[in-house]
Amino acid sequence: MGSTEKRCSVCILPGAFPNISFDEQGRCNHCRNTADKKADVAKEKAVYRGKFTGLLETVLNHPGRGDRPYDILMAYSGGKDSTYTLSLLKREFGLRVLALSFDNGFVSQAAMGNIRRVTGSLGVDHILFSPRWDLLKKIFSASARREFYPRKAIERASNICTSCMGIVKAVCLKTAIEMDIPMIGFGWSPGQAPLQSSIMKNNPALVKAAQRAFLGPFTEIAGGDVKAWFLSERHYDEPERFPYNIHPMAWEYYNEETIFREIANLGWTFPADTDSNSTNCLLNALGNHVHVKKYGFNPYAWEIANMVRDGVMTREEGLRKFSEPENREQVETAKRRLGLEEES
Ligand SMILES: [Zn+2]
Repeated sequence: MGSTEKRCSVCILPGAFPNISFDEQGRCNHCRNTADKKADVAKEKAVYRGKFTGLLETVLNHPGRGDRPYDILMAYSGGKDSTYTLSLLKREFGLRVLALSFDNGFVSQAAMGNIRRVTGSLGVDHILFSPRWDLLKKIFSASARREFYPRKAIERASNICTSCMGIVKAVCLKTAIEMDIPMIGFGWSPGQAPLQSSIMKNNPALVKAAQRAFLGPFTEIAGGDVKAWFLSERHYDEPERFPYNIHPMAWEYYNEETIFREIANLGWTFPADTDSNSTNCLLNALGNHVHVKKYGFNPYAWEIANMVRDGVMTREEGLRKFSEPENREQVETAKRRLGLEEES
């Protein structure tokens, strides 16, 4: 990750990124494609805010609302973005929230403390879902060693993150369907998911295809017990129970300073035990390490580039995120726990 590496003159996406091309001004193809649309971002955000207001009206006035335990299930990692989102849902929108945290075996102590303090001070019910470690270990170590996702997936995240997110999404969706919760909240950073996907009803056919992409390799790697985390046939028989996925950060004002100030009031403290791109997961450093070694670029490149391009992060901040040294100790600890010591 030397400073001599070629990068887009606008969004700093690196030259090693798959299928990237630069024009004579040094702009990448992704920046060229979005240049014309840029002026409409504010307008588009307003459209999605309006859509969400409409969805809220439907949910809050639903004749069966009284029988539903919650309005929204929040996928709550304890990181800064999902903490801020959780606070918005409860305080700003006045929703009845159930928070669900996923324990992948690498949640830092600091993050666990944040999760407890924040859910406590906001007054929301909370579920901690901890899958069997023997199964997770097999899946994560295979995710570090092998490639079993479509090529496109490596542009967005490390294989380890993709595996973890696949389980998180499945567990959240299954829980929401079974408890009849009409929305699932996610706290993606503004660079992780496009505005166009910030309010979307889960489509049973697409969900089925997506789950197969995980269940196939996971079953082969760890056996049939992994099916417990995913939807089964009977869930697809009631498509009307499929919830909306929403991520309010896509259209709500985003500024890291504001977020840190807001969530500090809820008892959230900056975890000193994780790397800068993830404020909650001690497996992240290994995921990054493997990705950079295999593909030659940081798995957060896409996310960081999107934020720089959209002006929510300066070029300097973006470059700083790229140049931070990896946490060697965390990489080694994660390798040891996953039985990957022999790998460089
Ligand atoms: Zn670019």
